[in-house]
Amino acid sequence: MRFADPFAAPGKWYKGNLHTHTTESDGALDPAEVVRRYRDAQYDFLALTDHGRVTVAADPSEGAPLLLLGTEMDGDSSELGERYHILAFGLSEACQVPDRPKVAEAIAWAKQHGGEAVVAHPYWSGLALPDLLRCEGNSGIEIFNTGCHYELAKGYSTVHWDDLLGSGHRAWGFAVDDSHHGVREHRPTDTARAWIMVKASALTQDAIMESIRSGLFYSSWGPTIHEMAVTGAEVRAVTSPVKEINFIAQRWAGGSFTAPEGETLTSAVFPLRGHENYLRVECRDAEGRWAFSNPIFFGD
Ligand SMILES: [Zn+2]
Ligand SMILES: [Zn+2]
Repeated sequence: MRFADPFAAPGKWYKGNLHTHTTESDGALDPAEVVRRYRDAQYDFLALTDHGRVTVAADPSEGAPLLLLGTEMDGDSSELGERYHILAFGLSEACQVPDRPKVAEAIAWAKQHGGEAVVAHPYWSGLALPDLLRCEGNSGIEIFNTGCHYELAKGYSTVHWDDLLGSGHRAWGFAVDDSHHGVREHRPTDTARAWIMVKASALTQDAIMESIRSGLFYSSWGPTIHEMAVTGAEVRAVTSPVKEINFIAQRWAGGSFTAPEGETLTSAVFPLRGHENYLRVECRDAEGRWAFSNPIFFGD
């Protein structure tokens, strides 16, 4: 079994968003205002990831989140003829971003510059499993994207994640905002809505990136996951009050626990059956918002 267990790991929790736009590309707010909004929402770290360029916030305000340099690259074509978007963050400097790189090149570029790459919004992009299998060397995929959720109700890419995990690939799942900061009737703000909670030794770029690479984080846009313990032949999840807690594994493996009507759950225990290749926890609160753990991997 391999489980990067952020709940038991030493260190502190840090809340961050890895996908954000500003007026330097197609966002509605300038970099300084974006940083202020995430500061006010008590995010500990933030990556500004404008399209095709690395944005540097000129004068981060006092108490601002730790800023990770990043960008979003338009890649080459998927099976269905759409463009991949590849998110890069944790870059060591504000360097020139390649123009429409192939997916492998985009991922290699992020890593060559000290960062990591994540496949952005697979559902919104219409990516299928063969597309995701081409993405060697990435840290994982976005499994929740606030902007895509409010724009087209295509924010969730958990089925893509399970296809990938179920075919034996190890990929972390990331909840991000992809915030463009526009507000319209019946379309709430996408600023400071989703996050990852990273367990790290310190609030520094090195420590945060090391924990992300190791999978020491979970994703949310509402609930808190307090614990995910493997004890003997069971996995126990402890959460903030939620309506359902799911243990997701490959195909028909796994199980789901739903609270009786009008009630909530704060824990669930899943008895392992021995055939799980991986197991991840997800839960939904009364507002319909989800949190997602990274997977426990079983076998080699
Ligand atoms: Zn995108
Ligand atoms: Zn974006």
